[in-house]
Amino acid sequence: MHNKSLSELSASLHSGEFSSVELTQHYLDRINTHNNNLNAFITVCDDRALEQAKMADQQLQQKNAGILTGIPLAHKDIFCTQGVLTSCASKMLSNFISPYNATVVEKINAAGMVTLGKTNMDEFAMGSSNETSFFGAVKNPWDTNRVPGGSSGGSAAAIAARLAPIATGSDTGGSIRQPASLCNLTGLKPTYGRISRYGMIAFASSLDQAGPMANSAEDAAILLNVMSGFDERDSTSVERDVPDYTADLNNSLAGLRIGLPKEYFDEGLDPEVATTIEAAIKVYESLGATIKEITLPNTHLAVPTYYVVAPAECSSNLSRMDGVRFGHRCKNPKDLQDLYQRSRGEGFGDEVKRRILIGAYALSAGYYDAYYLKAQQCRRLISDDFTQAFADIDVIMGPTSPTTASNLGDNIDDPVATYLADIYTISANLSGLPGMSIPAGFVNGLPVGLQIIGNHFDEARLLNVAHRYQQATDWHTQIPAAFK
Ligand code: GLN
Repeated sequence: MHNKSLSELSASLHSGEFSSVELTQHYLDRINTHNNNLNAFITVCDDRALEQAKMADQQLQQKNAGILTGIPLAHKDIFCTQGVLTSCASKMLSNFISPYNATVVEKINAAGMVTLGKTNMDEFAMGSSNETSFFGAVKNPWDTNRVPGGSSGGSAAAIAARLAPIATGSDTGGSIRQPASLCNLTGLKPTYGRISRYGMIAFASSLDQAGPMANSAEDAAILLNVMSGFDERDSTSVERDVPDYTADLNNSLAGLRIGLPKEYFDEGLDPEVATTIEAAIKVYESLGATIKEITLPNTHLAVPTYYVVAPAECSSNLSRMDGVRFGHRCKNPKDLQDLYQRSRGEGFGDEVKRRILIGAYALSAGYYDAYYLKAQQCRRLISDDFTQAFADIDVIMGPTSPTTASNLGDNIDDPVATYLADIYTISANLSGLPGMSIPAGFVNGLPVGLQIIGNHFDEARLLNVAHRYQQATDWHTQIPAAFK
């Protein structure tokens, strides 16, 4: 059961080959067997999942079911789920039972899907290795001594180990694409505003975007159909029709114009990852695409710009976690000041504190012009590079991550080294552009992801470009040996 695509699962549920309760139990059993080792889930919703599955089975019997009815999924623990712990992998929210559902969760429930549980992540989505979680690191199913990537590392490990057929993620600077790359998955960060952020705990509001993490572009398209759309509760969601993202999957790629930014193939890129990406580009040439070298000259500004803008926004967003409005409250506070200081001091981990300090500093009166304002100007330059590039190409391709998955613990004491590895993913967030990562091969048994960046609202094209590659290759069908 756990090797089927979403449309195969749906066909089996509709034909009665197995029920949603059986399918859900199968995944719960797999979680039960493997989660101790992987630590991919913070919360498993056994009883609720089986209840949802029963309801889905009724809909299926009454022939009142859609394509996703009865299919299980996992939610990153950044999405508020009514009645279920929503911790954002922080001690701060380690007892927060959300009183409401995120819009994404609401839409997915309405489609009849079954929530298996909530997946582990970097604390408040800050990180690239899933090691900053209060609940401990997640392990990569391809090599359990290695990181799965972050911050959506729990969702990535869960899908890669076939503990869930699909999952939600969120991407502020690469957190869907990078773990997808490191775990051999297909992950899509849509255009900023395509999916409602309501009920997705805010990290950096001008960059955060939810998206699907899946085993194939087709599966991602099916879930994106449900996740997308305007929401009056999120003023940054865009009022624009949602196309059927599965409709263009099979379009021909003849004449597709691919741009390869020379800055994405520089000395920071692992040579074997580079060779793997070049081989993937050759496949696109054989499918009829034309290749052009392009330049994104302000790429070197992306890391410093992001690491001012994102901390600045997080220092503001996380101010509500004060032990009064939200979050952990310290024991026996002496006075209000003590309450704030100790609640925040105890509730946040080191990386989150580091970001809040950087952000508060960059926004402070004497430094605002030198850091925050400057970063906003750089952000515009980075975005303008893409506007120019898209004048005569259709998509941009390159690596998602400069290396394959690193060993657990390798970068834990060197935050700057971790930040630098975000170089290929964060520009898309700074520019609001959609980006994908798809499996493109292996180096020493570890997955390599190809990144595809598109113009605003060009998700259908990205999915088409990914799907055609997946029709011509079988990287995305590979499963780590211990989880077959
Ligand atoms: N690695 C980046 C960071 O630590 C991106 C995280 C994300 O996309 N949520 O901020």
